Amino acid sequence: MREIVLEARAVTRTYGTGTGATHALRGVDVEIEQGRFTAIIGASGCGKSTLLQTLGGLDAPTSGKVLLEGQDLYALPDAALARLRRTRLGFVFQAFHLLPEYTVRDNILLPLLLDKREPDEEYLALLTRQLGLTALLQRQPTQLSGGQQQRLCIARALAVKPEVLLMDEPTSALDPGSTMKVEELMSELKKNYTVVIVTHNMQQAARISDRTAFFLLGELVEVGPTNQIFSTPRDKRTEDYISGRFG
Ligand code: ADP
Ligand code: MG
Repeated sequence: MREIVLEARAVTRTYGTGTGATHALRGVDVEIEQGRFTAIIGASGCGKSTLLQTLGGLDAPTSGKVLLEGQDLYALPDAALARLRRTRLGFVFQAFHLLPEYTVRDNILLPLLLDKREPDEEYLALLTRQLGLTALLQRQPTQLSGGQQQRLCIARALAVKPEVLLMDEPTSALDPGSTMKVEELMSELKKNYTVVIVTHNMQQAARISDRTAFFLLGELVEVGPTNQIFSTPRDKRTEDYISGRFG
């Protein structure tokens, strides 16, 4: 049994009120294990992004708790939560959110500089080499391809040595070639990091993750080892989704 780094306990998230309310999460319990690569899959609108943001301290649940190594994130004062997010969690989004005026190197360093932390040059050199960015450090983000920009985002997220790396559809804006490179890189990362990836691409989840969680309409239907979820799902709804049958 591995250590649980991050967990959601009975998390609900409702957007809006009354008849216009959307119940994006309907009581989710999920445990993210140390050193594993977890994929969250499910159809568009089932609550994957909401869950990731809630797990990452970006969006408070309507009820329930999120614990990072036992610490209740949303019980923290705002400033402490913001600091925890910057120092202990890494985010990679579908959109890059890079600063076009800064070099690649400065984009990577920004989260550290915000906290007046000294960069660990040896680690950064390793990271940029692993991500294929070493030769690009003095460029501007606008001079990079989409795949290079996404690798830069991954480097920026990892620069702080986060306890968990959270990625929301990180390859959905990329062409197949760049997607393949980013997937190879993610397979490398799983040796050293705890990663949670949201993807609507089941093949991607099957290729790169150790564990898969299947979501449907704001509920976690089933979670388990990726090969088991894809070969012998326990729940009929998982089976229907994976085999392309809905309803
Ligand atoms: P997914 O990432 O699986 O596509 P989301 O978490 O983005 O799903 O959305 C889950 C549900 O919550 C959807 O019905 C979506 O329309 C709704 N939703 C997401 N964000 C908001 C928001 N900021 N305001 C209102 N509804 C939202
Ligand atoms: Mg989403």
